Amino acid sequence: MMETKKTLPKVAYFCMEYALDAEFRTYAGGLGILAGDYLKGAKDYGYPMVGIGIKWKQGYSDQMIGKDGKAFDAYHNYNYDFLKDTGIKVNVRIRQRNVVCKVWLCDKYNNAPIYLLDTDLPENEDSWITGQLYGWFGEERIAQEMVLGIGGIKALRALNIPIDVYHFNEGHALFAGFQLIKEKMDGGMTFDEAFKASKNEIVFTTHTPIIQGNEYHTLDRLMYMGANCDLTLEQLVQIGGSPFNMTVAALRISTISNAVSQLHKKTANTMWADVKDHSEIIGITNAIHLPTWVDNNMISYAENYNNDQESRNELWDAHMKNKTALIDFVYERNGVKLDSDSLLIGFSRRAAPYKRSNLIFTKPEVIEPFLKQKKLQIVFSGKAHPLDDVGKKIVENIVEISKRYPEAVVFLENYDMTIGRMLTHGCDVWLNNPRRPLEASGTSGMKAAMNGVLNCSILDGWWPEACQHGINGWQFGDGFESEDFDVLDSHDLGCLYKVLIDDVIPTYYNNRTKWIDMMKNSILSTKDFFSVERMLKEYYELMYIPTYKGK
Ligand SMILES: *Cc1c(COP(=O)(O)O)cnc(C)c1O
Repeated sequence: MMETKKTLPKVAYFCMEYALDAEFRTYAGGLGILAGDYLKGAKDYGYPMVGIGIKWKQGYSDQMIGKDGKAFDAYHNYNYDFLKDTGIKVNVRIRQRNVVCKVWLCDKYNNAPIYLLDTDLPENEDSWITGQLYGWFGEERIAQEMVLGIGGIKALRALNIPIDVYHFNEGHALFAGFQLIKEKMDGGMTFDEAFKASKNEIVFTTHTPIIQGNEYHTLDRLMYMGANCDLTLEQLVQIGGSPFNMTVAALRISTISNAVSQLHKKTANTMWADVKDHSEIIGITNAIHLPTWVDNNMISYAENYNNDQESRNELWDAHMKNKTALIDFVYERNGVKLDSDSLLIGFSRRAAPYKRSNLIFTKPEVIEPFLKQKKLQIVFSGKAHPLDDVGKKIVENIVEISKRYPEAVVFLENYDMTIGRMLTHGCDVWLNNPRRPLEASGTSGMKAAMNGVLNCSILDGWWPEACQHGINGWQFGDGFESEDFDVLDSHDLGCLYKVLIDDVIPTYYNNRTKWIDMMKNSILSTKDFFSVERMLKEYYELMYIPTYKGK
């Protein structure tokens, strides 16, 4: 570990969710995983950074499968006695009412300090605001974002933490930008001056290439909520348009922005090309925190690999330990005993149509013989957003398929960090088949790759930057894109079956030597570049330091 890098700009990182540990339920999915890994890395490598977030009383939903095969959501109240009381409370005016936000410090997970705001206090009429992560839309979502953004800036001031650069991870934190403008206007600047000065200290990361995933609100509602922080209607329109788009606004209020992989950089630039005066969108590919996600034995056996049988045995035995642990875990959870000598594919994603969870089952006549002969076993996991009925149908469909092939297909309910870790350690293959180019980055494939779990993936997100086909994993689809989903899906399906039947399955059963060499290649070709250390370095060199110097 290095000493704190004292001369570097001090960064406040704003994020709606942080995934630090399975027990600390302040996350939903990939965005939180990224943020948690990032702040652990910041601590490991001594970067002067703090996180701002929310202490969610109920976190994200627990999504279970009922006896009838239907997905349902359950919520519990959580108490975390490891959080430290900073003694600080700040006030945010929401809907003309004062909302008190208590500030907690989380530093338990070897992470840079994360300050979490909490409205669940007896003095608040609106104590529910920090109740459920992504639980609500409309006014309630804005209220949450006001706590994060406006409350977050006020918390930094009250804590007396000087900040050089404000990093908004996704558009949720946008109102922090309004608060920064307001502070400067209160200090005597005009709006134009305050906007420019604030822009010079804000950087922004955009995540979703799905237009509908980019939140917008009506101007009336923002004004009514008080999210505008004294800005006029015209000023709001100038920043975020009408209706007010949070991503567009964040692109305009920042000095530089980034997408989360090199392919996503292209996608994002096309997507937002019509937005006037938006900041440059560069690409900084996501990465993971190795101590959290990777079996160190796998890394060290790969590093000391001699291309001889002894090395292969060591690496394979270490993998089989992880595979056996996963098989035991599945047995405990679902009562299904998978076979450790049979190829095991993992697939775990949020249930959204573009991720195509059930693509592999499209033609039963092709896939069924492999499942019935137990040449292929598949473990699925993933949640749908609690208000997303289409997503829940996707989950229920996988559950139904798992009942059809009870020995070979498993669905693990309530996807979380524990399941994510088990799967990316213990499967043989990590399957990923989104509709290109809708996967911004993905990090689960990185976890798998570094554990010697071979990626078999569409060339989307991070994978084009890492894939050496037939050497460290496989691609399928050759980067094909089409706006006609029937055309795209049938093309990709053909390619998926072809790579499975011609490459993946025969290599696993008939050429174990090559398979283990590929595992070694997978680990060695990803462990440095897709480590959070590289990502932190890039954020500093490409975004924070230039922003700080340009102020
Ligand atoms: C790694 C991880 C993610 C993010 O992975 P994707 O590749 O973006 O799907 C989401 N949820 C959990 C629990 C994870 O462990």
